Amino acid sequence: MGFFDNFLQESHLMVRQTAKRFALDEIRPHAMKWEEAGEFPLELYEKAAKAGILGVGFDEQVGGSGGGPMEQVMVIEGLMYGGSTGVAAGLGSLGIALPPIVQSGDARLIDEFVRPALRGEKICGLAITEPGTGSDVAAVSTRAERDGEEYVVHGAKMFITSGVRADFLTVLVRTGDDPHGGLSFLVVETEREGVTRSAPLKKHGWWASDTAEIGFDDVRVPVENLVGAEGGGFLTLMQNFQSERLALAAYGAITAELALKEALSYCAERKAFGRPIQKFQVNRHKLVEMKTKVVTAKTLVYQVAHRMAAGEYLVEEVSMAKNVACDVAMEVCDEAVQLHGGMGYMRESLVERLYRDARLLPIGGGTREVMKEIIARQMGL
Ligand SMILES: Cc1cc2nc3c(=O)[nH]c(=O)nc-3n(C[C@H](O)[C@H](O)[C@H](O)COP(=O)(O)OP(=O)(O)OC[C@H]3O[C@@H](n4cnc5c(N)ncnc54)[C@H](O)[C@@H]3O)c2cc1C
Repeated sequence: MGFFDNFLQESHLMVRQTAKRFALDEIRPHAMKWEEAGEFPLELYEKAAKAGILGVGFDEQVGGSGGGPMEQVMVIEGLMYGGSTGVAAGLGSLGIALPPIVQSGDARLIDEFVRPALRGEKICGLAITEPGTGSDVAAVSTRAERDGEEYVVHGAKMFITSGVRADFLTVLVRTGDDPHGGLSFLVVETEREGVTRSAPLKKHGWWASDTAEIGFDDVRVPVENLVGAEGGGFLTLMQNFQSERLALAAYGAITAELALKEALSYCAERKAFGRPIQKFQVNRHKLVEMKTKVVTAKTLVYQVAHRMAAGEYLVEEVSMAKNVACDVAMEVCDEAVQLHGGMGYMRESLVERLYRDARLLPIGGGTREVMKEIIARQMGL
């Protein structure tokens, strides 16, 4: 019996295999070029949609291909075989931008935004973070003032994944003064007058995904673009964070697993002092520790995904899984680079990219420290 047999059914493995096949055929051969260029071709969205990957985790009634948290984890694992977290994250930005719209049940918004995004025809992003605030969501200051049948949006958003290329953004705006009850979600099309976008921001990792600062200068948006009830944004965001954090935990576990895989094959082949470097006890033990960490992280991620799929709302567990898996990613990638010696520092080595890409994981979607504060609250501390 394998470590993960309790969690993985045949249907999960098929989803992972489909995403992995797509990644090996469509991403891996170009990953280096796209990483260096800082973007990947727009056609990849439609190709991923046709392969049935983009729609995983969304019901068929809204244009998705079905499945839940476990299937979403499988897609992330499969896509990461493309060797670029940036590409996977760029394709995956709909995974955080669309759920608030789907959850609102608004048929017009679903037809106009969700379905085309799931077909790969429209690109979207989620815009929460601002130049002045990230972790403290209640301090969001981008305002949407009601003026007749329109909102007038003014403010700025920061570090928005797919922001440069997005056709629309699901934006957290302030519609009232109450720190939490005054927040709402609004869909803003990026072609509207007054929306400005920075050039792609230069980053430490995730090179192939675009990240932008977005400006809103008195942007007029019809009130029909309000997502759910006015003032319901904070609650919706907290629910959205659950799946985003599970996704980031899944990125952590698979990043570590891929780095371990690279290290194992390098240590078997590379010789020093007349023998393969895996024959040195210190290196063998490193590989054992790396594998143990990978198994620990994956077990936690799968367990949480499994329980979420069964309908449980797991705040403490998701936060722990994110912290464990993202820290494991950083630790295992660090050792993998070390085991590669100088080659680990070269851009041609996958571990070099994984190491850089891993650094974002304990920051994005709620930092390690914010996760700990959430866990502390759940513990009654
Ligand atoms: C590549 C990339 C992609 C991103 N994509 C998106 C996106 O698509 N959409 C989006 O909205 N955002 C996105 N972000 C933003 C990301 O979610 C934020 O950077 C993150 O939430 C942290 O916010 P901050 O950068 O404002 O840091 P801050 O909130 O300023 O935190 C700075 C430091 O203070 C610590 N800190 C803050 N509060 C506390 C506390 N209460 N207790 C202890 N320590 C604390 C933090 O842990 C951190 O170490 C992205 C960021 C990056 C780098």
